[in-house]
Amino acid sequence: LSTDSDVAKREAESISKRSQRSNAQHFEFQAEVSRLMDIIIHSLYSNKDIFLRELISNASDALDKIRFLALTDKDVLGEGDNTNLEIQIKLDKERRILSIRDRGIGMTKEDLIKNLGTIAKSGTSAFVEKMQTSGDLNLIGQFGVGFYSVYLVADNVEVISKHNDDKQHIWESKADGSFVVAEDTENEPLGRGTEIRLHLREEAGEYLEESKLKELVKKYSEFINFPIHLWASKE
Ligand code: ADP
Ligand code: MG
Repeated sequence: LSTDSDVAKREAESISKRSQRSNAQHFEFQAEVSRLMDIIIHSLYSNKDIFLRELISNASDALDKIRFLALTDKDVLGEGDNTNLEIQIKLDKERRILSIRDRGIGMTKEDLIKNLGTIAKSGTSAFVEKMQTSGDLNLIGQFGVGFYSVYLVADNVEVISKHNDDKQHIWESKADGSFVVAEDTENEPLGRGTEIRLHLREEAGEYLEESKLKELVKKYSEFINFPIHLWASKE
């Protein structure tokens, strides 16, 4: 059992580690993306579960991509754990972190900057417009901006990613209009793929419950062609 002061100490250590991130670069979200994130954060939409569907779907897409490349070039898969095409979901109840990782294609530094913030897809403004009239947030995935639904439940999100063509990088945003990208020297090497870490909001505590996650995984895994494993830290 660890005490509150242990938790506070670990949190302080992790904050100081982050401030030491070498070569951290700051970026502004493209304006429409920023508006979209604002809408999501302030949304009163009650079906927040959908964020997990979007993350599982992105993990599955990334696994599809590496599997497709491996058809013509076996070497892209690497060896050992890297050949394990699965999705892992972890709960860290103490630190209130829900993470989802895949051994898919991963993102280079440039991919992180473009795909998660600076280049708005055509669906972004269409979705923003829709949400201002009679839009249903549940449709977010169909507009190609499903990733941002993480801010329904998290106030800080880290995306750690390793692509075969680049070093491991970390993207982080508190949805305050900007994000940071840096080479990742603080976390364990992923080998290949992506880990999304959600620092859950106070009111999103239900997503730290194993039974809730099990139910959601069961629901959303139906059309996913890769195994999904769920781990929970001991309380
Ligand atoms: P969509 O999945 O419809 O393209 P998203 O908003 O869900 O839109 O994701 C945006 C982009 O971010 C994806 O197109 C992909 O390039 C990248 N991405 C998100 N999650 C992952 C992941 N787990 N692995 C690799 N790339 C990812
Ligand atoms: Mg998606």
